[in-house]
Amino acid sequence: MNKVIITCAVTGAETTKKQCPNLPVTPEELADAAYGAWQAGAAIVHLHVRKEDGGPTQDLKIFKKAIDLIRKKCDIVVEITTGGAVGMTPEERVAPVSLEPDMASLDCGTVNFGNDYIVNTLPIMRQFASEMNKYKVKPTLECFDVSHVVSSHTLIKEGLIQPPYHYGFVMNVPGALPYNHKLISDMLSQLPAQSEFTIMGIGRAHLPAIFGALSFGGHIRVGYEDNIYFSRGVVAESNALFVERAARLVKEAQLEVAKPSDVRAMFKLAR
Ligand code: ZN
Repeated sequence: MNKVIITCAVTGAETTKKQCPNLPVTPEELADAAYGAWQAGAAIVHLHVRKEDGGPTQDLKIFKKAIDLIRKKCDIVVEITTGGAVGMTPEERVAPVSLEPDMASLDCGTVNFGNDYIVNTLPIMRQFASEMNKYKVKPTLECFDVSHVVSSHTLIKEGLIQPPYHYGFVMNVPGALPYNHKLISDMLSQLPAQSEFTIMGIGRAHLPAIFGALSFGGHIRVGYEDNIYFSRGVVAESNALFVERAARLVKEAQLEVAKPSDVRAMFKLAR
């Protein structure tokens, strides 16, 4: 039986309370959102944290508080961001890896982000991968372009990342790859052996990406970071609602929703 992992990206760096009134922002709200997502079937929570004013931060104290609160509530696998937010330094972005989350995102190339950009040179990628090795944190190799998948091969050749690999195809970010099946196939054609992949459809690609992941044998990501609309013009009342729908679709496809313990075994997580 194929098991499908549902990741819930509960808040992200860009979404605001103004757009999405129930956006979790404080560590307590993030823990509640992670717990709700776990109850609905999410096995991984992808975590960003915010300052009191709601802006994105990589502050270690805030991250630690959120991670501790989540771990008290449930066994969901905790993946932190090292993408951070536009304008952060690499050192700032990678710092929370020292808190020993289960997993962390590792962006595999420089990318346009609307009118902004996020820099991920090979030296930055090596630095991030080394930090993750040091703290036994499993990377999700986030690829916004086919060339990013190819860049990840360099880390593999250099022994900086170990199988099984987990890729995240981030599709429909303004300025980067749109969402379509030809481009998914192109990304897949460059994956090394022993790879799992999650498709992240941003904005209106959210729902198509769930069906895409199920069709291509991948895993699913949902949540307010990627998309706030449950249906046309209707902002979702919670992250959990997105997870519930994804879990329903997994079951309709006669597949099984992966539990956190499945993810820990599948990805050989340290904790
Ligand atoms: Zn993120």
